Amino acid sequence: MTENLKEGAVHRPADDLQIAGLVPMSTVDWPDHLVATVFMQGCPWNCFYCHNQALIPTRVPGVVAWDEVRTLLARRRGLLDGVVLTGGEALRQDALADAAAEVKEMDFQVGLHTAGPYPGRLRDMVERGLVDWVGLDIKALPEHYDAWSAAPTPQPRPGSACRCWLTRPPAARVSTSRCAPLWSPGM
Ligand code: SF4
Repeated sequence: MTENLKEGAVHRPADDLQIAGLVPMSTVDWPDHLVATVFMQGCPWNCFYCHNQALIPTRVPGVVAWDEVRTLLARRRGLLDGVVLTGGEALRQDALADAAAEVKEMDFQVGLHTAGPYPGRLRDMVERGLVDWVGLDIKALPEHYDAWSAAPTPQPRPGSACRCWLTRPPAARVSTSRCAPLWSPGM
């Protein structure tokens, strides 16, 4: 059980999340939305330009209990539009869907930042109506993905992540990065 849970509180799966940080109020993580942003620990990739290197290790324990997020949301009803789940790679942790469900139960919207390495989990959350907005970060052309991510095994491409939007499309913003070593003017 998460140590920070209040005595007698019921443990829910979301309490297992390893959370690296919490920004209680942000105007930049979801366009036109005032949100709390939750940074999940761990990412299966290792992009060489990553600006959040400390969030990559998957065995580093979290430093913020989900109960802190829960308590913050209870205090900010009517003040925040929603919560953005980001990382690291938020979808890496299988408790994420339960966390999103709790946020929805509290009448907040859910935004999700992902680079697309877990298309099955994304599809599941979208189809269950647990995600209102997705910020999908396309890292590279499909043929460059393994060089880009430095992952030990071949990784799913974001195209797989996008397919789930065909049945129940959430609002989304798709972004990409231009990086000189893997880019040429003809691309
Ligand atoms: S996907 Fe994002 S968090 Fe993961 S290594 Fe790349 S830039 Fe960093």
